[in-house]
Amino acid sequence: MRDYDGSDYPDAEPSTAFAAVPDAFQRLWTPHRIAYILEGQDPDQDACPFCLAPGMDDEKALIVARGEHAYVLLNLFPYNSGHLLVCPYRHVATYDEATPEEVAEIGSLTQTAMRVLGETAQAHGYNIGMNQGRIAGAGIAEHLHQHVVPRWALDANFFPIIAGTKALPRLLGEVRAEIANAWPK
Ligand SMILES: [Zn+2]
Repeated sequence: MRDYDGSDYPDAEPSTAFAAVPDAFQRLWTPHRIAYILEGQDPDQDACPFCLAPGMDDEKALIVARGEHAYVLLNLFPYNSGHLLVCPYRHVATYDEATPEEVAEIGSLTQTAMRVLGETAQAHGYNIGMNQGRIAGAGIAEHLHQHVVPRWALDANFFPIIAGTKALPRLLGEVRAEIANAWPK
């Protein structure tokens, strides 16, 4: 297997082969070599991991739920433990390209994700959102994905998931007026 940079990359090992006590991190980290390194593919090819994941089994792809139009998987690079991504199966980049059916199911899957994380992780709160475009912080900008990040009262290492919105070089009133003026009447 080869890494993205073309360097040699050892084959993934089953987690049972590791000298460690199995815990949540086992499932979170070890499958990434299979799910995200695109085994058997040309490393130079710009393959989309969110398109490939549904074709793999749930454990390898870190998928937690599959719907009709969208599915849910763990983020390989979580901001918090339990950081989920809700993706349409279709390879569309931005939210406005999603069909009404996809929008509806992304929404319902997000609601379910919150309830599940509330039960399983006792989350106190959530950050939910989509980074649209690479300039806005999307790691995989080509395929729409909604972040669902559980939060706890004492989790100190918060990173804003809506990157790009924190810098405010323009006055808020100016931006608001611009948007209001452009809005269809
Ligand atoms: Zn894709």
